[in-house]
Amino acid sequence: MQKPELLAPAGDLEKLKMAVLYGADAVYLAGKSFGMRAFAGNFTEDQMREGIAFAHQHGVKVYVTVNIFAYNEDLAELPSYLRQLEALHVDALIVADPGVLALAKETVPNMPCHLSTQANTTNWRSARFWEEAGVDRVILARELTLAQIKEISRRTSLELEVFVHGAMCWAYSGRCYLSQHLAGRHANRGECAQACRWRYHLVEERQPGEYMPIEEDERGIYILNARDLCLLDHLGELAQAGVHSFKIEGRMKSVHYVATVTRVYRQAIDAYQADPENYTVDPAWHEELHKISHRPYTTGFFDGNPGAAGQVFDSSAQVASHEFVGVVRAYDEAAGRAVVEMRNRFAAGETLEVVGPHTPSRRFTVSDLKNSANEPIAEAILVQEHVSFAIPFSVEEYSLLRRKKP
Ligand code: SF4
Repeated sequence: MQKPELLAPAGDLEKLKMAVLYGADAVYLAGKSFGMRAFAGNFTEDQMREGIAFAHQHGVKVYVTVNIFAYNEDLAELPSYLRQLEALHVDALIVADPGVLALAKETVPNMPCHLSTQANTTNWRSARFWEEAGVDRVILARELTLAQIKEISRRTSLELEVFVHGAMCWAYSGRCYLSQHLAGRHANRGECAQACRWRYHLVEERQPGEYMPIEEDERGIYILNARDLCLLDHLGELAQAGVHSFKIEGRMKSVHYVATVTRVYRQAIDAYQADPENYTVDPAWHEELHKISHRPYTTGFFDGNPGAAGQVFDSSAQVASHEFVGVVRAYDEAAGRAVVEMRNRFAAGETLEVVGPHTPSRRFTVSDLKNSANEPIAEAILVQEHVSFAIPFSVEEYSLLRRKKP
């Protein structure tokens, strides 16, 4: 059995570096054109060059999304963009539109093409169709059970990629006009406003301004708010089913999310691969996944349609047991001091937790806090300021700092 690839999201250059350092085998990202997630930051050509060089130095592959559903007017610019991606040594394209796939096959025939989940592949006959069309890998629809994934795997020789973690879309494979209709932001062109998670009321047309709550079994008012996917407990079954790549959703999420989720799934895949027979899920991995912002977790369609159990009715807010406060930029061994890029205010005397790409989480109390001018301060309040303080043990660059929420 081949070791599954861990594929992590890279919404921008910093997130790419975090994904690489925290254990991804491959990352996926978008350029400024033709990719979904129009608001994820995305990469300029120079940023893409730097990101690809960084990833390749660490033996990590880079896949670039070209997965909009193109209109006629998009087609003229595509060939030069595809050649540019090839010249940048991108490892594969992620496409959704058959027209874009055909153009890629003509323009950059040696570039592997992965079929986006947006193409909504839900059966083995579709997978074979795409294989015959020149696709190298299919990213399966999220709306599949393990049994369905197994059958697709058994009946095709394509590489299969499956989402194992991250936000779920209320609509079928993200084919949704809600955001376009309510916010003028087109979900199928990467601009989704998450309109499904808004708070809805009913208004009777003769009583304008009178908003009546919509209630579900007296539990609440959020009717389209999907839970987040977490298949941590099922990685072994997916590996045995022949899934080649485990994908983490979330190019719009924070560096804290990317690093934490990548690290957990890295540890899980490595543990499974080392001893599949005796593999068990470490409860600490679940604890880690509860430290980041998330909606309550679900296993999605893994065992069948989750129905109402896949939704959250009482709130669209994300929960987290911890709060991200900064990233370690340097550690001076001799002085026992860390330089930290601050992301959320914290004070001297507070207990923080630090976790690194290769080091487990440890707690310490902030002492001798100084600002970027090396002046003593009681509290770090300027986001992105580089502050320093004493840490009584060595910490890695790119370590994350966080604190437990009250
Ligand atoms: S509005 Fe909701 S259901 Fe529609 S595409 Fe966006 S996240 Fe998916």
